[in-house]
Amino acid sequence: MENNFDVIIVGGGASGLAAAVEAARAGASVLVLEKNHVPGRKILSTGSGKCNFSNLEIGPSFYHGAPAAFLKKTFAALPPAAVLAFFDGLGLLRTEGEDGRFFPRSMKAQDVVGVLINELAAGTARVSTLTEVVAIKPGSVFTVEACRVPPQWDKKSPRGEKLVFTAGKVILAAGSPCYPQIGGTSAGYALLRGLGHTVSPASPALVPLKVREPFVAELDGVRLQAALRVTAGGRTVAQARGELLFTSYGLSGPAAINVSRAALAALGEGEVFAEADLFPDTTEGALFRLLSERAARFADRPFCHFAAGLHNDKLMKVLACLAGAQWQALCGRLEPEALDKFAALLKCLPMQIKGSTGFEDAMVAAGGCAPGEVNPATFASKKVKGLYVTGELLDIDGDSGGYNLHLAWTSGMLAGRDAAKH
Ligand SMILES: Cc1cc2nc3c(=O)[nH]c(=O)nc-3n(C[C@H](O)[C@H](O)[C@H](O)COP(=O)(O)OP(=O)(O)OC[C@H]3O[C@@H](n4cnc5c(N)ncnc54)[C@H](O)[C@@H]3O)c2cc1C
Repeated sequence: MENNFDVIIVGGGASGLAAAVEAARAGASVLVLEKNHVPGRKILSTGSGKCNFSNLEIGPSFYHGAPAAFLKKTFAALPPAAVLAFFDGLGLLRTEGEDGRFFPRSMKAQDVVGVLINELAAGTARVSTLTEVVAIKPGSVFTVEACRVPPQWDKKSPRGEKLVFTAGKVILAAGSPCYPQIGGTSAGYALLRGLGHTVSPASPALVPLKVREPFVAELDGVRLQAALRVTAGGRTVAQARGELLFTSYGLSGPAAINVSRAALAALGEGEVFAEADLFPDTTEGALFRLLSERAARFADRPFCHFAAGLHNDKLMKVLACLAGAQWQALCGRLEPEALDKFAALLKCLPMQIKGSTGFEDAMVAAGGCAPGEVNPATFASKKVKGLYVTGELLDIDGDSGGYNLHLAWTSGMLAGRDAAKH
């Protein structure tokens, strides 16, 4: 294999592939080095396989880590519409889902990867899979040391031959440690530190939450629409509305994932509670009236008849138990406090958050390369001439809704264009 290129891209994920397309279109010779057996492996798992690749509304307020002024410059250099035009140009039709989320029209993440790979195959860029970069040495040109590696599922085969490449520019697009089972790694942070960049510790964001209350195990698998409020020291630190999924360990689903970043940050400073409103469209007064009328109507019937059809049956049983209402006891014999408590729990089910399920389940990582050390309009390193840092490797993480992929495409495209300049 030829070993000298204009641009070498470390990591063939979202930002690396976007960078490769743009650098190759600008006439550079491009090599993408990817340690997985296929490029874009993480993209395939995004949006539950449907790939929520951007959003109608993009702006600095949907991101954390970087100051708004940084991202203003980024979106001025490459307006969000230019990313949509990029995918239009690749032949990807799109459709708009809830909250302005964009998906491929086929609802298949494979198509997003497909159009990127097709474009690279039709151009001059080369992609070398099962090739892990182990060192990047700056000089008059960069020396990039890599190693052939077996696919992730092959735990027995040894690492293969060592490879050495040179390039005028290097784009570091190695992603974060999230989802190590599909290739997430901290390797990019080590490469960055080796090049003199400041890397803040990574922590999981957009991740399911573990709670202390054992009752959640009984609700495992219950999905419902809820409003979730997170409090710390009596102060609201985050709220979200949407689908909430109870799991054996705690809370998942979009509502929980959307509050996770703030909840975990607050956990470093003290106790953190999540309060789930399980009847978010009904006011407390209206709910209480509904339950009182229902209790009067079912006075000579057991509580389980009163609860049937009100909400999810597993949830009803657990809340009845927490409220001290006996499942088989007659409604008419209920202590009034039990009904009040039951109503109160439906509007505010408190749970204490004790942590997250970690990088294995996190969609994105907070932490990484200090944004101040790269140019916001090109993603060129301010520390090492000719180096670029893109995507999740940066200490910028977005809300759920297509924001993380949008920034991966944006930073990759800007870096690819700039790196191709002589
Ligand atoms: C389950 C899941 C669902 C998600 N859903 C969405 C969604 O719907 N919408 C959204 O906007 N975001 C979503 N995200 C987040 C989004 O996927 C990431 O933010 C995005 O992929 C980051 O792009 P990247 O290029 O920085 O990193 P990646 O896409 O992770 O690419 C990095 C690549 O670098 C390779 N690599 C790492 N180190 C080396 C090395 N030393 N040598 C060679 N190769 C290396 C990796 O194998 C990987 O392929 C989701 C994430 C997950 C895990």
